[in-house]
Amino acid sequence: MREYEKNIRKVEPYVPGEQPQNKVIKLNTNENPYPPSPRVAKALEEMDSDRFRLYPDPACTALTEALADFYHVNPDQVFVGVGSDDVLSMCFLTFFNSDKPIFFPDITYSFYKVWAELYRIPYECQKLDGDFRIVKEDYYKENGGVIFPNPNAPTALYEELDVVEDIIRANPDVIVIVDEAYVDFAGRSAMELIDRYENLIVVQTFSKARSMAGMRIGYAVSSPRLIKYLNDAKYSFNSYTMNQAALVCGVEAVKDREYFEEGLHKIIKTREWAKGRFEELGFCCLDSRANFIFATHPEYDAKELFEALKDNGIYVRYWGSERIEQYLRITIGTREEMEVLFGFLERYVGRQMPG
Ligand SMILES: *Cc1c(COP(=O)(O)O)cnc(C)c1O
Repeated sequence: MREYEKNIRKVEPYVPGEQPQNKVIKLNTNENPYPPSPRVAKALEEMDSDRFRLYPDPACTALTEALADFYHVNPDQVFVGVGSDDVLSMCFLTFFNSDKPIFFPDITYSFYKVWAELYRIPYECQKLDGDFRIVKEDYYKENGGVIFPNPNAPTALYEELDVVEDIIRANPDVIVIVDEAYVDFAGRSAMELIDRYENLIVVQTFSKARSMAGMRIGYAVSSPRLIKYLNDAKYSFNSYTMNQAALVCGVEAVKDREYFEEGLHKIIKTREWAKGRFEELGFCCLDSRANFIFATHPEYDAKELFEALKDNGIYVRYWGSERIEQYLRITIGTREEMEVLFGFLERYVGRQMPG
């Protein structure tokens, strides 16, 4: 071992889902199969590249105001970043500085553990119950902060707002972060609770419901007090996190509420139909409230099925980690993409669909 090695920060990185460059049916990273609002395409066409000479607005004023408008909060309650991964990472750095462990579920977004280790934050995973539900009482214990996604990933299960509020109410002395990457597909957002709990942070993203994973836009909504702390950390790190194109396109996407809502309906409709198809083929699906389905088949090995799908140009996500080794996570694609998936699965499980 080289002498300098002992002073190097070594981390086990997060492993993102594959981004194959060839044409496949891509149901592995929960992207949206539909394009973003046409207003985004228009903004890109009209974009003046001379503007790129200049640094972007470090305060991201236009985007922050558009989001504040959309959610009926003040602009000083909104923080934006390079995808919610950037926002969440900044939250870990800013708010989780206790010697007590932060809490998050044992089965959840695997980036939480990576950030905790990167920033050397102690953490303790709280076990989901046998149905993969959050046990709210587990979060009553003393801790250094709480974070969980709602709906959870990769289970797709949504906890009703009273469960979320219960956890927030039990933790007035720490920061509670609700990662709502998928909430638009689910139900009520914890955004409703922002004015009642100063220590609550709700994080959302443009990557899923808004079809803009490639633009990298995420945001947090909280009390002005916590947003100020986040901004102080950001300006100590990199003042210009958001690029000019993302700022402009982000505003256009937020302003097109109608397109956004139509898109949600299409995905939800396909999801509900897909649940039925999976079940007809003998799969067990958790009750998805997101844009993906977490499914297992009692007779077929998940890893083998994952490989078979991949060999046939259909990419889904498989982890093989404890408690979920027999599960696959399948993103909801277009109806046509899902038809191809089910065509393959019908042959795989050797069952013809009735009718
Ligand atoms: C997709 C996802 C994110 C990150 O999304 P960004 O593309 O970085 O905005 C955060 N949390 C969860 C639970 C996710 O599934």
